[in-house]
Amino acid sequence: MEESALVAKAEKYLKEISNDSISLDNIDEFENFKRLYYKLDDRLNNLQELKESMDAQGYTTPFTSLNKYGTKAIAEVSLEEMSENSRHNQMFRMKANAKKNVLDRVKSAIDAHKIAIGHLEQCGYLKCDSCYKKYSLSEFRLKGEKCSCSHENFSFKINRDATYRLEIIPYLPLSGNYLVLMSELSGYGRNSFKKVLNILKQERKGLVKTISLVIRFRDENGRWIRKNVTLDSEYINNYEEEVRNRYGKDVRIEVLRFHRTKPAIIDDKYVRNALAISYVKYSEDIISSIKDSILKRKLSDFKRINKYDAIRYKYENEIPGFIEEYDIGELESWRQSKITEEFEKLHFIDEF
Ligand SMILES: [Zn+2]
Repeated sequence: MEESALVAKAEKYLKEISNDSISLDNIDEFENFKRLYYKLDDRLNNLQELKESMDAQGYTTPFTSLNKYGTKAIAEVSLEEMSENSRHNQMFRMKANAKKNVLDRVKSAIDAHKIAIGHLEQCGYLKCDSCYKKYSLSEFRLKGEKCSCSHENFSFKINRDATYRLEIIPYLPLSGNYLVLMSELSGYGRNSFKKVLNILKQERKGLVKTISLVIRFRDENGRWIRKNVTLDSEYINNYEEEVRNRYGKDVRIEVLRFHRTKPAIIDDKYVRNALAISYVKYSEDIISSIKDSILKRKLSDFKRINKYDAIRYKYENEIPGFIEEYDIGELESWRQSKITEEFEKLHFIDEF
């Protein structure tokens, strides 16, 4: 397929996905569960095919071929040729950017679909009514909805012990729209998003992979010899004993180092993004549905609330003469300091 046609095709497909909303209504009924699973599974296959075509056309490194227009020495290039080249480069850059963006979205969509499918796979399974063999949804589909005992009647079961949360599925960036979803987060949503990302990025406590030592020992002629030694993790508790066995009881350990593996909880940035966005957006929706009733219960002094709102409103719309209107950072910090000052006067806030 021609390059620009592939970009258009991918964009169109992602748009189709974004227009097709996910419903979890009566998801514990098999027909609904299966419909959703098959839909996500089909889409994942399509997305992976798209990604493969893009990989084959070099979408991962779209800027590399720019170099071939810059190989001539400057003196050899005529003015006409140069402007021709720069026009060409500009167009090329635009196309390369489009490729990079669409590939980025396809990758994000693939991971979002994998997460959604994983949650469904953990949640529901099938049991043959005749031989009681259990099937995950993927096995069930692979087998053509038929048991290996040749029966075709199954009971649908929900796994009560496994870990899954189907509620996040509608909030996943299924159309690769993670940037859009991020921009829609509320102020507290953005803060939570950063926190969740940091948790997922955190390194697990590393396991010791190897132990390296610098030792000194006497050889058979009684000379002191210095040597670097590497031991496997199995010697973590008896490395001293081990080197003594190998190099004699006079051995001295001069340097000791433990090398650890440092795997992050989740290595893939698209997966981290998708998980963080979906959990935060899901939580945001819960909060907005209960916010009013909580405020109603907790707030009683409406005079103070009105005063609070009035002060915020006053400064959030004020631009003092000594600050330029476009200096957003400066403006915001001035506004915040004025608001804080007024609140302090009214004892609306304390030092904490
Ligand atoms: Zn069976």
